[in-house]
Amino acid sequence: MPRPIEARIDLTALRHNYLVAREYASRQHREAKAWAVVKANAYGHGLLRAAAALADVADGFALLDLDEAIALRQAGIRQPILLLEGFFEAADLSICATHALSVVVHSLEQLRLLRQAAVAAPDLRLPIYLKLNSGMNRLGITAAQLPAVRRELEALPTPGPLTLMTHFAEADGVGGERCIAWQLERFAAMTADWPAAASLPLSLANSAAILRYPQTAHDWVRPGIMLYGGSPFADQDAASLGLKPVMTLHSRILAVQEIGIGERVGYGGTFVAQRPTRVGIVACGYADGYPRHAPGGTPIVVDGRRTQTLGRVSMDMLACDLSELPGAGVNSPVVLWGDGLPADEVASAAGTISYELFCALARRVPVREA
Ligand SMILES: *Cc1c(COP(=O)(O)O)cnc(C)c1O
Repeated sequence: MPRPIEARIDLTALRHNYLVAREYASRQHREAKAWAVVKANAYGHGLLRAAAALADVADGFALLDLDEAIALRQAGIRQPILLLEGFFEAADLSICATHALSVVVHSLEQLRLLRQAAVAAPDLRLPIYLKLNSGMNRLGITAAQLPAVRRELEALPTPGPLTLMTHFAEADGVGGERCIAWQLERFAAMTADWPAAASLPLSLANSAAILRYPQTAHDWVRPGIMLYGGSPFADQDAASLGLKPVMTLHSRILAVQEIGIGERVGYGGTFVAQRPTRVGIVACGYADGYPRHAPGGTPIVVDGRRTQTLGRVSMDMLACDLSELPGAGVNSPVVLWGDGLPADEVASAAGTISYELFCALARRVPVREA
């Protein structure tokens, strides 16, 4: 029998969440389309699995890796596919064209590569998402670069359709509208003296913006975490946003220790029993993707009831408190996160975000689709 740990992926929930994203977006932009962001192996949920589940509803798929984009095409995905960091060298461009990929262009260097390639191969015509840096200061064209960028665009022999894009740095923030307003102002200022920009399609919103500021939805939104049932907000849970958990990481208790006062648990003995304690040992550790930095006290569900972890997470095991769960014992089912225990809560206890938990799911964990 294999180790009892497993990740269950609820594909119905994934489809539901995608439709929720588009529903939010369409409240203010009736025609809004949604890129299903499936980068990082669909946030750990499995790229091809996620794409297959969304194939008949998604307007398009967005990811980072050229090889992953090709894998989607080979799997029969016909929708637009957007490379969120664009291409990395000139040789990528003909591959993008062959597979009908759309590319983010975030730098002048990329545009120069594109123009050189297009001069050499005049039928090279890729849909371009021109990414403007409106304040995230990670990727994107600055206001100062924009005149040179426009000249490069005009020099393209057969320009593909152009969409303007930017990315919010704090749409998940607690400051309300002003979290996005300053970036929208910079975006508007950047394009103010570019008359043609007014009629270009826009793609601005990530999950947080879709959910809280649907006025930013415009032509294409880019939901990521919400597809997987995670909340982008520290102050609002996923269920209240209409989202359902997609990944449930579950396992079983494989041993029980009854310890007395003063006994300690795990490496470093960071948990010290203040009363007689029943300790359940769970078949799940950091080598499965459970965060080692989750402190004792992190929520966990055993036999359908909430309790907490004890002491440090080991590579293959972690401990939890069964003192209040006398019926629980060896083989009792355990939910680490997912159904009945939002990943966001576990993430928050561990000082991280559900994005990181999902992406860190280890390859050794068997996955079952439900
Ligand atoms: C990852 C990513 C998204 C999705 O962000 P979420 O917060 O997961 O919704 C959207 N746009 C870009 C450019 C991204 O890189």
